[in-house]
Amino acid sequence: MRKPFIAGNWKMNLDLSEAVKLASGLKEELAGVTDLDIGVFPSAILLPDVVDALTGSGIVVGAQNMHNEEKGAFTGEISGPMIKSAGATHVILGHSERRHVFGESDELVNLKLKAAHKFGLSPIVCVGEKLEEREADRTAAIVERQVKAAFDGISREPAEATVIAYEPVWAIGTGRTATPEQANEVHVIIRRLLARLYDDELANGFRIQYGGSVKPENATALMAQPDVDGFLVGGASLKVDSFVGIIRY
Ligand code: PEP
Repeated sequence: MRKPFIAGNWKMNLDLSEAVKLASGLKEELAGVTDLDIGVFPSAILLPDVVDALTGSGIVVGAQNMHNEEKGAFTGEISGPMIKSAGATHVILGHSERRHVFGESDELVNLKLKAAHKFGLSPIVCVGEKLEEREADRTAAIVERQVKAAFDGISREPAEATVIAYEPVWAIGTGRTATPEQANEVHVIIRRLLARLYDDELANGFRIQYGGSVKPENATALMAQPDVDGFLVGGASLKVDSFVGIIRY
């Protein structure tokens, strides 16, 4: 059985006091929830305070991005060891906003995934097609290309410790959600590809989150799909009520 993993991507939202308040509210509301994994991904500058606020809660904390190098002349960037030293354990890689707003390539996501494993962080790798790609019937080809490229040269053990978030670009922040069947169909494509790249055991145990306008109202139907193993949530993760509502799907 795959343990569901529900993660909140706070993006470039919340200042220090708002972030700590949200983290403290989640700690209180979610005390005793152990049947699924929960994570929050605040802005990097807030990581140490959010880690502090969540100590003892079981809620994991991660960064939204990282550089693939350990250190150096990369003004404005943060490294894996910096994220770890802030007390965080996870990192989101290749989010669609990183790919499509900041121009991150499949190759760069692959370098970052290798670096996350090297520096002992648990990665969530995001993949997903744009609207025009779905309309041109290219969803499977795009997602397969992104997964193959991200996992290029990655051996079984680190691959197994990775999570994929399928996030159709047209559903992120738009209020337009993939239907449960559309989400599951792509999750099956990803799982079959993982079985080809690695083996059935890895593929069957591998967690694939769905992301794209997940709300308390659609969480139950999405989670009822056999290959949906949790969510990566943007907007609805910014309030205790809506994030907890999703977690209590
Ligand atoms: C996201 O940022 O990964 C996301 C899915 O955002 P939203 O839930 O707001 O669509």
